[in-house]
Amino acid sequence: MHIRIWGVRGSLATPMTTKDLKAKLQSLLKEASPGDLSSPEAIQSLIDRSPHAATYGGNTSCLEVSFDGSVFILDAGTGIRNLATQLLSDGRATTSNLHIFLTHFHWDHICGFPFFVPIYQPGRRLDIWSGRSDVEELLRVQMSSAHFPVKWDKLASDIHCHHLEEGPAQQIAGAEVRILSMIHPDKAFGYRIDRNGRSICYLTDTEVSKNPNALAKPYADFVEGADVVVVDAMYGFLEYHEKINFGHSTIYNWIDFFKDSRIGELVIFHHDPNADDAAVTQLLRSARSYKDIAAPDARWSLSAAYEGQEWDLGK
Ligand SMILES: [Zn+2]
Ligand SMILES: [Zn+2]
Repeated sequence: MHIRIWGVRGSLATPMTTKDLKAKLQSLLKEASPGDLSSPEAIQSLIDRSPHAATYGGNTSCLEVSFDGSVFILDAGTGIRNLATQLLSDGRATTSNLHIFLTHFHWDHICGFPFFVPIYQPGRRLDIWSGRSDVEELLRVQMSSAHFPVKWDKLASDIHCHHLEEGPAQQIAGAEVRILSMIHPDKAFGYRIDRNGRSICYLTDTEVSKNPNALAKPYADFVEGADVVVVDAMYGFLEYHEKINFGHSTIYNWIDFFKDSRIGELVIFHHDPNADDAAVTQLLRSARSYKDIAAPDARWSLSAAYEGQEWDLGK
């Protein structure tokens, strides 16, 4: 499975501002030596190695999990538009089996759906999966004329909506897919995708601080053995206490939950629109310090999701 992140932001798409860009240029140029600016190649090398020449990204939730002629898409936030562009340019928009797995139907997880070009391809089959049974009904609302000019019934593609049940894994296009109920207003579901002994878990939009003692074990059981575990870690500790009941988590609970787990990498995800790149980096630093104290024996690594982040988990 090849995994790539296309959207990392929670709640609302958050494009970088001119002020942010100027601050990055300021930092980049401050660290440059005269030699770094002596030729186009030297400038490129400075850009390539500087942490100031990058951003976590502003698109809302979307992950790609690709393997053997199939593309699984986790959530249809604004990041799905760039994924569609990639699928069109490399031909997979016509040759691959496309499956979209939705965690829930809050805007940030579906607002890219009308811009996912394959839904307009005549005859193209598209399967959409959810832990809810009313998936088509909810998407029809999104594609009603008050919200978008093209109605659901006018979509040229052949869309099949499916209800996933909690419990044993379901075989879908050569992978095993399991869902888990999240703690979130209305309903949300996390996913685990396994194939050939490798796996990714996607646990976003859940407020685990609500009941950490009861939730630690089911979450730890769900992720055991996974290579990549992407989690809702929207808030720092202080921000969380102003946002109780908003349905989101801090990274600290996840570190506690998984301190004895056998996983590969824990990934901070669903970044707060109020958090600029420096704030996300600071959150990652604080999380690593906490992990050193709270989970000193944990062998997994910790990262903060960025658009373009990739993992190669074999075939
Ligand atoms: Zn969300
Ligand atoms: Zn939500």
